Amino acid sequence: MAGIVVVFDFDKTIIDLDSDNWVVDELGATDLFDTLLPIMPWNSLMDRMMTELHSQGKTIDHIAEVLKRVPVHVVPAIRAAHALGCDLRIVSDANTFFIDTILDHLGIRECFSEINTNPCLVDEEGRLRNFAIHNFYKSSDGCNLCPPNMCKGIIMERIQASLISEGKKKKFVYLGDGSGDYCPSLKLGEGDFVMPRKNLPLWDLIRQNPLVTKSEIQEWSDGEELARMLLNLINTISMAENAQFLSPQNMIVPVYEALPSSTSKPTVLVN
Ligand SMILES: [Mg+2]
Ligand SMILES: [Zn+2]
Repeated sequence: MAGIVVVFDFDKTIIDLDSDNWVVDELGATDLFDTLLPIMPWNSLMDRMMTELHSQGKTIDHIAEVLKRVPVHVVPAIRAAHALGCDLRIVSDANTFFIDTILDHLGIRECFSEINTNPCLVDEEGRLRNFAIHNFYKSSDGCNLCPPNMCKGIIMERIQASLISEGKKKKFVYLGDGSGDYCPSLKLGEGDFVMPRKNLPLWDLIRQNPLVTKSEIQEWSDGEELARMLLNLINTISMAENAQFLSPQNMIVPVYEALPSSTSKPTVLVN
């Protein structure tokens, strides 16, 4: 079972909704957010919104409190996948503070071997500052499919390359919903799986040209369905792996060699 890497988007995938919108809406700053959205990059806008909330007396604790109320339906599935030996990772355009706060609250932070997202810090005034994982004022990531601050495809390629360099042959499962999840989906190969959330941008983009990815496509609608399908998929992949190891072709020689010399016929113990 150690042969499966599951890469999750975070917003609208692990959690049911978008964490940025949730915090802004719950803390009553939706109007300003909507006014600035057409004229600012998302990541810079969230930094501006955190400053705005701070000036209104909303503290880090208020933000954390709101994040802990985010609806999530995939916690048992994540625990089960981790317990089965899958390598779970997150690639998200949210930020470290939001993701860590939610995962710590749910008690599943340690299920993930890696979280790739935008860095955050709390400054000396107690204000949350958001930064881009790539500094797009100095250098864009150069990908025309992705927002300027983050190309998830580059991150996927780095994960794939590091596993190959360790000599590990893995199957990938990628779960996501947004247009930013399209680029990493294109990096998947034969035998991998992409799981787009139905009726959202990633699903639309893949549906326009399903042949664009060599991976198998499995769509899902909500957290309950995601959880069920992911565990089914992990079971299916691992049963196929086990069947390969235990196939009669693989068993005849070792079983025959292990038998006492007086035995005249090879015995196949499996099947
Ligand atoms: Mg998302
Ligand atoms: Zn990209």
